[in-house]
Parts: sequence; structure tokens; C-alpha cells
Amino acid sequence: MTTLIFKEANPPENISRHVKTTCAYCGVGCGINIEVSSTNEILSLKGDPEHPANYGRLCSKGSALGETLEASSRLLYPEVFGQRTDWPNAISTIADSLKKLIAEHGPESVAFYGSGQLLTEDYYVANKLMKGFIGTANIDTNSRLCMASSVAGHKRAFGSDTVPACYDDLDHARLIILIGANSAWCHPVLFQRITRAKERNPALKIVVIDPRKTTTCDIADLHLPIRSGTDAKLFNGLLWYLTEQDKLDQDYIKRYTEGFDDALSAAGSETGSLAAVADYCGIDQVDLDTFYRWYADTTEVMSLYSQGVNQSSSGTDKVNAILNCHLATGRIGKPGAGPLSLTGQPNAMGGREVGGLANQLAAHMHFSEEERGLVARFWGTENIASRPGLTAVELFDALAEGKIKALWVMATNPAFSLPNADKVKQALANCELLIVSDCVARGDTLDLAHIKLPAAGWSEKDGTVTNSERRISRQRAFRPLSGEAKPDWWILSEVAKAMGFAKHFQYQSAVDIFREHARLSAFENHQTGIVRDFNLSALIDISAEQYDLFEPVQWPLTTDQPEGTQRLFAQGGFFTKNQKARFIPVNAKPPRAKPSDKFPLILNTGRVRDQWHSMTRTGLSPRLNLHKAEPYLEMHPEDAQRYMLHQGELAVVHSEWGTMLARVHTTTDMLPGMVFVPMHWTGILSAKGRMGPLVNPFVDPYSFQPENKHTPVRVSSLESKWQGFILSKQALELNELNYWVKIKGDGYYRYEIADQTFTLEQLEALIEKQLKNKEALSWQRQDDPARELLRLAYFREDQLELVCMVQKDSYLPERDWLAGLFTRQEDVTALRSTLLSGKPPVGTADTGKQICACFNVGEKTLKTLIASKQATTVEAIGKACKAGTNCGACIPELKALLS
Ligand code: SF4
Repeated sequence: MTTLIFKEANPPENISRHVKTTCAYCGVGCGINIEVSSTNEILSLKGDPEHPANYGRLCSKGSALGETLEASSRLLYPEVFGQRTDWPNAISTIADSLKKLIAEHGPESVAFYGSGQLLTEDYYVANKLMKGFIGTANIDTNSRLCMASSVAGHKRAFGSDTVPACYDDLDHARLIILIGANSAWCHPVLFQRITRAKERNPALKIVVIDPRKTTTCDIADLHLPIRSGTDAKLFNGLLWYLTEQDKLDQDYIKRYTEGFDDALSAAGSETGSLAAVADYCGIDQVDLDTFYRWYADTTEVMSLYSQGVNQSSSGTDKVNAILNCHLATGRIGKPGAGPLSLTGQPNAMGGREVGGLANQLAAHMHFSEEERGLVARFWGTENIASRPGLTAVELFDALAEGKIKALWVMATNPAFSLPNADKVKQALANCELLIVSDCVARGDTLDLAHIKLPAAGWSEKDGTVTNSERRISRQRAFRPLSGEAKPDWWILSEVAKAMGFAKHFQYQSAVDIFREHARLSAFENHQTGIVRDFNLSALIDISAEQYDLFEPVQWPLTTDQPEGTQRLFAQGGFFTKNQKARFIPVNAKPPRAKPSDKFPLILNTGRVRDQWHSMTRTGLSPRLNLHKAEPYLEMHPEDAQRYMLHQGELAVVHSEWGTMLARVHTTTDMLPGMVFVPMHWTGILSAKGRMGPLVNPFVDPYSFQPENKHTPVRVSSLESKWQGFILSKQALELNELNYWVKIKGDGYYRYEIADQTFTLEQLEALIEKQLKNKEALSWQRQDDPARELLRLAYFREDQLELVCMVQKDSYLPERDWLAGLFTRQEDVTALRSTLLSGKPPVGTADTGKQICACFNVGEKTLKTLIASKQATTVEAIGKACKAGTNCGACIPELKALLS
């Protein structure tokens, strides 16, 4: 077993260290500077002013990373069948079990499922073990749910999965189109960069194409709220318009592309008139004409697209319809011009580079005989997988059918995130051998695992990640490994050795793997007829010291171009056999799942501003939890009225595949007929707050990416007997209730609760039986059976221990003031007589709902500032209370308050 030696030995006492690393969250890939004390505490965490992805900026999530390193949430030692064990036993149990299953059922009976959270080095080893030595390509990743359609679209058009543009282009563009991308919330630092570009150059036009009016629309000159799933028709119409207006770059088309006539003919055959396109997309014809005209008349055009395009049963066609327009105008690879796919995860791109997806090999290679032979020669294996493996939805279907006997899940939670998630959860529960490596102790998938492996967390990881603009950056460890946690690459390498592949997995540190990864990228590249975009030949001899000092750089990174490559394809040079890009004929197709009388509404899903994926980290930060505390259902007021739902009440959302509960939020930002729910709440943090069970399992035929953005649903009221909240110093178990959501506050836990049958006596008993050292508590109680009203307050000496307030209707006291009594640990003696009213005594500060997560500024504070005319602009608010001056994500809400 390899002994790990970490460089990060404690420095002499009282001397702090400075470490440069990257953010753990989205694909923007922001650089972070951290100052760490001699006892490994974070003294400061700031954006790295030298990192080209963010130039010092961080969003609310990145800024709060230091608040998420909570030891109590960590998985600290290996467990095998519920028993704590040591690493040698865990490793040998896994290796022996996999070998036995492979001997009995063949290599196809085992599978790995990874994540864009893994570092490139972890991903590389997982892929090498599965595809190179176990001999099956059954390794896929949650990136399949995120950007597989962009990968497939790139490969069809460019012959390779190459992102042609870079962030610097945002500063040169004169028209930026955001398609299916709420970047204000999902890629905030890029959004702020666009905002600044517009401030510098008011002539810069921003177009947002999204059925929802999101916060991103705040800076838009034009918002096209297209009908869900009509993007391909919109861009086919644009291709036709550009041709009619004689705005094509004929020279670029002729010299560097092929297939234009077929693509134009496909676009023309279905486009018809401008009016027909506008009608199909459900938008105003004048607005459509404006968009087409701006595109036609602007050379520096950038198309930024994300999950709204990718997560579709025709996502690849949508991507190609966008790429066709850029190729036809030659607006690609030039300053300010090009398509840019925004990746969701910190290392989705790194996973693509090493074959994290089941249908590709490492270093952007595929399953042709030539490429298989090349990779097999490089790895020195005779057992390389002969064909693509199962993609995510196929893989979990095979698990449900019992064809996959053993599954190893790494750093992700498919029981929560996959479409049709209840079926996936059941399949995981029935799996013969479920192995999960993770850094947290609880998870919907982890809770089902036979073998649990503690993996290194963000602050302990050492390796590389690649962001949306092909920029490779270092993630550097700045704290020692927690408990017995190990890096994922180490765990995988040890299992590989124990399975008999020791010679091929002798890695001592992450740099050994990175060096091999770079060598494979260069191996027989440009020599055998296979010319590959992914090339790190300048790094094949990188030393440990150089790796430590590695500066962010964009691939390709060759001996001819050792400083990296900012843009590609301005002068062709595509990675097809004839080096020409391919226009793809696109016939716009409607989404696979159709609304019906039974399921008349269309469900869209997505992220919220201050949370990340399953909230295992962001959910630990009290200030991030304040922005959106509960799963919610956004819908147009007309729909709310039609389905007899009211603002603030709990709704049941049903689809053909499952149900979820969410709090109704009516807004005209939604189109009638469409509803939206956030993706973040797991079964660990809520009862029935998971959106995964609702989502249809249809996939795109080229990318196999599921259609998370379009599921027919119906909605109805929960019709609860009572609803309300509990604020408590200690954590509670409330599984007996129909609905609960657990929200971590500063010094307390908040639970939003509701039930259809549970009596108030039962609720009181459920709370009382969990109160620690109950005898030492004093209490107050108020009830009104006619209103199903119960109010309880428990005190330990002069401190509040727990407060519970429920009633039939939803006119409950606001939580903020009561929560503040826990946060500030106030002496509540004087408040005892009035506390159950839920109202602060006159003259007591109640800051209201949080608006600015970075500086924890509440709505009431802001309203007071505005009403008193102390602050009448966003800038003045910033000066008065700092709100909006860090990440800027709350600026749209500040503007809304001002207006
Ligand atoms: Fe992290 Fe925010 Fe930057 Fe994304 S935009 S990498 S979440 S700091």
C-alpha cells in the first residue's frame, strides 16, 4: 500500500501560510487565495486577483467556502457492511468482490459512476482501471446530466469536444446571447463580468433566451421567453434569416466547413416566415426580428448556453443549431466572437478530458480500432474495453434490471439527482454490492451503501480541474486529511493493485498521474493520422515542483505553443479528417414528454443563487441558507388561481414518475403553463423535497442526456391539517411528518413542517421526547384547537431552547426575529410573556428576510434605508450597509426594492 506523504506539514507556530486553489463549485473555475494558520484554520479566503477566471471576484457560494469545512458532517473512516474497518480490509473486500462478480458474470456486470467534483487525476485513474484493465466502459458520470449535449454537439460539428472561445471574449463582444442560462445565479462571476462589460460599453447588447424571466434578464436589452423546447427552431430561423439578408461569411464557409447547403435546406424546410417562427416559439415577432437583426449586424457575437439547452431530449440538435449560425458567419475563435458552453461543475471539463463519459476514451479518444489500440499500447494492457459503456440513465436501468451487480459511486448522489429518482433509489437499494466514496457522512445514496469510503474533501484535495474555457488550474490541499479519509485516486489505485494490476497503478502522488495524463494526450498525436485537440505535450515532463507552482493555463498546450491556447478555429483547423467543420442539418423536434389533461403543466428545474447541488456543503453555511430556505414551486398567478393554490401554501407536484412537495411562489416571471422547482433538496434535508422523482427519464439520442427541463406535471394543494415551523438549538428527527425541511441556522436548526393527519398532541409529544435534559427546562404553551394552533417555547435558564409555532393557515409569525434570539444567544427573560406572539417588542431590530448573503443584510434593513432616503441607488445602499458590494448577486433584488 502506498504511503502518502503530504507537503503541507505544519509551519512553525503562529506563522500563517498562503495557498492558491480553486473554488469547489461551478464551471467558472474561480481562483481563491487562502491564508491558513499554523493550526489549519482559515484566516482569510478571497478571490485570487491574478486568476484569469475571476480576477479576484467570488460569488456568495465561493466566499462562504470557509464556512463549509465542518468536521461533524464528514465520513471519517471506512465501513464495510455497517462495521467500521481499516483501509486494507476495505480495499481487499472491494477487490475480491469485484473479481468474483467479474469471474461469474463478466466485466459488464460492474460499473463506476463518477462526478464533476472529482479532480482530473481521480477521474483518470477511475477511467484507466475500468476501461483499461477491468475491460468494460461502464463508467459514466453526473456530468452526463449537465453538459453531454454540448460534448456531442461539439464533436459533430468540430470533430472534437473543443470549446472555441474564452472568457476574455466577453470583454470584446458587442452582442452576448445567453441561452437557457441563468448565469446571474449559476455562473455569478461571469455574469458580473458581462455586467461590467456592459457598463464600460453601453452599446453592448445582451439577449436572454429563456422561458423564465430570471435574474439574468436584469441586464438584458431583450428577453425572448420562448416556449420550452423551441430553441432549435429559433436558431434554424436565424440561419435562414442570415442567408436571406446576405450576412454569411462565404469565404469561411467555403474554406473551412462542409455541409452548409444541407443544414440550410433543413432550416429552410421548417422555418417558413418570421411570423411562423415567432408563433412556434411563442414570442413577439418584433422581438424576434430585433434579435435576428442584431445578430446579423454584429460581428462580435457570443452565444453562451447552459442546461436550458443541454438538458433536453434534442439537446445536441439545439447545440448544433447554435453552432451552425456561428460557423455560417465565421464568428468563431475571434476576439468577442464564438459559442461558449457554460459547464455546471468545477471539473466537468476535466472529466471530459480523461474519458469520464462512457462513450469516450481518455485524452478525447474514442472506440475506433485505431484509438483503442493507441490507448492500449500506452497503458500496456490487452484488456481494453471494446465498445462504449452504459450512459447514466442506461446504467441505472441496467442496475434496476439486475444486469449490473456491483456499482461504485464516487462523489455524487444519483438517488437524488437522476431522473425518475425513486426508481433509481430502489435500484440502488437492491444492488448486490454498492460502494460509495464520499466526503460526507450522510446522503440518499451513501445511506444505502454496503461499503462506505471516506474521500478527501475540497480543502484536502490536491490535483487539477478544468473550467469552461479549457483552463486547467490547481486545486491545492491546505488542510490535512480528515480522519482516515484518502484521495480518490489513492483509493482507486489501491483497489487496482489488489485486483492484480499493481504494475500499472504505482502512483505516489497526483503529479505522477497528471504527468501520465499529459503523456497520453501527446502520445502519437499528429503522427498516426489521428490528430487530437486535447494535447498537453508541453507538460509531459512536468516535475513535482513545477506542478506545485503550476499557473492556470488553457489547453492545447504544446511544445509549439507552451503558453496555451486562448481561442481556436478562427482559421479552421478543425479536428475532423479533412480539418473542416461540419454543418449539421437540424430538424427541430418537440420535447419527448407531452403534456396531457392529466399532466397539463410543464415543469422546469434548476439551481438557486446560494446553493450548490445536494447542499452537502452550502447547506452548512447559515447565511447561504437564508436566501431560499425551502423547496419552492414558481408558477404564474393565473395557473395558481386555476389550480386553487395560494402564495405561501404547500403544493403537491405530481408527474407520471413521482411526486414532491414545495411552497407555492406566484410570479409573472413564469409563463402561464410552466412551473419551476429548484434541484437542491435531498431526502436528508427534507421530506419529499427531492425534485428528481418527478423528472422524466427521456434522453437525447446523441448525448444520452436526460430532459430535466421539460416534464409534464399537475399541481394541487397539500391540504395540510396544520403547518408551521420549529426553531431549535438541537437537531430533531421529524420523519413521522408528511413534510419537513431542515435548515441550518447560526446557533439553531429551523424546521418548516406540515402534516395532514398528525394531531397537535402527537406533535408536542414528538418534540418533547427528543428534548435533552428536559427536567431542566421551563416552558410556555398556547393552543387553540379550533385553529389547529399550537405555540410552544422551551427555555434553559435565560436562553431559548426551542420554539414551535403551527396553525391551520399560513399566517405565521416571521422567523427572522425569533431566529435572532438563538443566533445572538440573548437573555430572553424579559421576553417570556410576549414571545409566543412571535412579534418583537417595539424598538427591537428585526432585519427581515435576508437579501445580501455576503454581508447578511435583511429586507427590512434595506427598506428602512430606502424609505428614509438614506439610500436611493444600488451604490448608495452599498455604501450604507455593504449589500451588493461583494459578489453582486443580490443587485437585481436591490434594484427591485428600489423600484
Ligand atoms: Fe465558485 Fe462562484 Fe466562482 Fe462559480 S462563480 S467558481 S461558484 S466563486
